[in-house]
Amino acid sequence: MRILITGGAGFIGSNLTKRLVNEGHEITVLDSLLRGNKLDKDTYSKINFIKGDVRDAQLMIDASKGCDLIIHFAAVLGVDIVADNPVETMDVEVIGTRNAIMAAEINNIKKIMYASTSGIYGHSAIENALTEEVLVDPRTSYAMAKRYNEIYLASHHEEKGLNVISLRFFNVYGHNQDNRMVVPLFFEQALKNEPITVFGTGKQTRDFTYIDDTVEACVRLMNLEGCYIVNIANEAEWCISDLADKIKGIANSESEITYIAAPKKRYDYEVERRVGSSDKLFKLTGYKPLTTLEEGLKLIQEINYKK
Ligand code: UDP
Repeated sequence: MRILITGGAGFIGSNLTKRLVNEGHEITVLDSLLRGNKLDKDTYSKINFIKGDVRDAQLMIDASKGCDLIIHFAAVLGVDIVADNPVETMDVEVIGTRNAIMAAEINNIKKIMYASTSGIYGHSAIENALTEEVLVDPRTSYAMAKRYNEIYLASHHEEKGLNVISLRFFNVYGHNQDNRMVVPLFFEQALKNEPITVFGTGKQTRDFTYIDDTVEACVRLMNLEGCYIVNIANEAEWCISDLADKIKGIANSESEITYIAAPKKRYDYEVERRVGSSDKLFKLTGYKPLTTLEEGLKLIQEINYKK
């Protein structure tokens, strides 16, 4: 297939690009490189790379010419950055996705796969793992924009028959991630023997999904035709203080684990519990993420930090 991947130089995008290039797909990456280029040299040499912004409509049209699929992963990301830049976050989401849809229409591209987020569940009631049917509760600009785009894309399926797959990622982690997210941040602190900064009580939970599992799920889901919203989750609930303990152990660190108040700007983003069901993913693809947090953290230590 010929595929345009927006955000293809980012953490999830670069790992997916590498996999798809190795499978023989013809890939164009459009990325603003705002957070650097996470593509390795070999992958970079095998793709058509365009440095640019998804808010540029003409660029999106030109970049996607001749493609069969747009994988739209470009986004402003990371709680602190999003909280500091709510308007830009919305713009990139809303205008970028509008441009992806417009480019698909103009270039007769039949499918868009979009990076949504588990953040849209917000404070949704949670007794068991969150399924896609749970009433969502987006409260931040980032989460609202992601939910808006899920619905916007679904409406284009209804009206124009565009195939759309929205992926609700649950705290993806793995090699090549930067310290905007908690796992690489705790690793960095642990490896420098600096205090590991757990926010609040550390009892808040997240469902950490390993990058290779995430990529596998994406590759399987991109073959679907129709309109889908799918969780990509590990179905394992970990509290942040246990995460800190695990990383400290794996990194063989002397760090002290400290409990501090979260920065004020994080308040709207903080949820007490988050764990996702991957039943729908399994029903659709016969696959669910299986790498345990312990295995995933050891792989990061091996790949990223082994001297
Ligand atoms: N977290 C923390 N210390 C930090 C950074 C994050 O305790 O220095 C916690 C944060 O409060 C949240 C979890 O780690 O409960 C995951 O944070 P992240 O920003 O990686 O992703 P989120 O799930 O909030 O989008």
